[in-house]
Amino acid sequence: MAIWLKKGKPEAQVMEENFGVTKVVAQIIKDVEENGDRAVRSYSEKFDSWSPKSFRLTEQELKQIFNQTDPGVIRDIKFAQEQIRNFAQLQKDSIKDIEVETLPGVILGHKNIPVNSVGCYIPGGRYPMVASAHMSILTAKVAGVKRVIGFTPPIKGEIPKATIVAMALAGADEIYILGGVQAIAAMSIGTESIEPVDMIVGPGNAYVAEAKRQLFGKVGIDLFAGPTEVLVIADETADAEMVACDILGQAEHGPTSPGALITTSKELALETEIEIKKQLQKLPTADIAGPAWENNGQIILVKDEKEAVYQADRLAYEHVEVLTKNPDYFLENMTNYGALFLGKETNVAYGDKVIGTNHTLPTNKAAKYTGGLWVGKFLKNCTYQKCTPEASLLIGEYAMRLCEIEGFMAHKEQAALRVKRYSIQGETA
Ligand code: NAD
Repeated sequence: MAIWLKKGKPEAQVMEENFGVTKVVAQIIKDVEENGDRAVRSYSEKFDSWSPKSFRLTEQELKQIFNQTDPGVIRDIKFAQEQIRNFAQLQKDSIKDIEVETLPGVILGHKNIPVNSVGCYIPGGRYPMVASAHMSILTAKVAGVKRVIGFTPPIKGEIPKATIVAMALAGADEIYILGGVQAIAAMSIGTESIEPVDMIVGPGNAYVAEAKRQLFGKVGIDLFAGPTEVLVIADETADAEMVACDILGQAEHGPTSPGALITTSKELALETEIEIKKQLQKLPTADIAGPAWENNGQIILVKDEKEAVYQADRLAYEHVEVLTKNPDYFLENMTNYGALFLGKETNVAYGDKVIGTNHTLPTNKAAKYTGGLWVGKFLKNCTYQKCTPEASLLIGEYAMRLCEIEGFMAHKEQAALRVKRYSIQGETA
């Protein structure tokens, strides 16, 4: 039986906080629906003190931003984008259109058709999330999306230059400096100045994630990718300094970001708690990471690897690092996670920033039913069918009887008409 050495926030409190966010988001969406650009501008002023002449960057502004950016930064962004593009392209190549003859004369197929237009949200309230530009915009382009537009908020009244460079290099067709719910609503509903898209993607804070949830249906969404989460699974071979460091690495995202340790070693659990306190004393972002660990941190002591898998699948966290003797055991047995980081040689920062896998990942237990963002999310799997007259006759007879069972008499007539036509043709042939 697992023992909680440290417990996270009670579920009732989390639900109450979520309810507050739901109400605020619904109000903003309604206002953007009714008042378009005017509402968008008023919320941008209110939450981000940002009200430029146009939220969309011009070609000239883009050129200026490139000129003002350190070439070293551009080089590093290009390296990261190469890794993400290569992996996304390989994934795309693994997706095949098919056309098969399932019965004599019955041809069935599917095509993977890219969504025509996508809006990518690149978060940036607290940090410029440069990497999110590669993950969303670049992946959409590899998938073949024609119109890809990108939105990111200003940070303390400034344009986040490195993010903009990454958005442009990733292939964004339009770039807007606009954040939060107002950005998500504008690209989903459309305003006088912003043409709406068919699908919205990208991570964000609780407001952004909730806005995507509420707008789903009007537009497609990728997944529920809210405040980040990390779980470290470790045994007695793990090093407490590394465990603590990797938990704090995600906790610094925001005070609502949960971090957890599942371990078979009580000694490691106690050492990790001490290490976290020690590292928080030196960490420049301790003001965020500290409360995140204090309020949402968990340490769960388990009997063995099997119980670790059970508890980890129950948490269904976004990032799961495995620092044990046999990390592959977790690859073979775990079923609920956004991304796995196997062994001490890799870590969440590699995945989040550069290694090539996508960092937009399911949070809030969404890993129970979805993986993260990838080229496949931008493709619609659309089927088609054809029949020879002989095949139509065979299928038609089954269809007539099956439609009758359901009481769908007009459906039955569709089938009956074919059966009649092709029986006669068969007689004359
Ligand atoms: P953000 O861009 O998501 O949100 C900033 C915007 O929030 C602002 O522009 C503002 O308009 C809006 N906002 C702020 N306070 C508000 C309020 N009280 N009411 C309404 N709107 C408000 O940037 P952030 O806040 O720094 O958050 C980034 C988030 O993205 C973090 O939680 C991080 O963990 C998450 N993230 C998740 C993943 C993933 O894959 N799940 C990946 C990267 C980042």
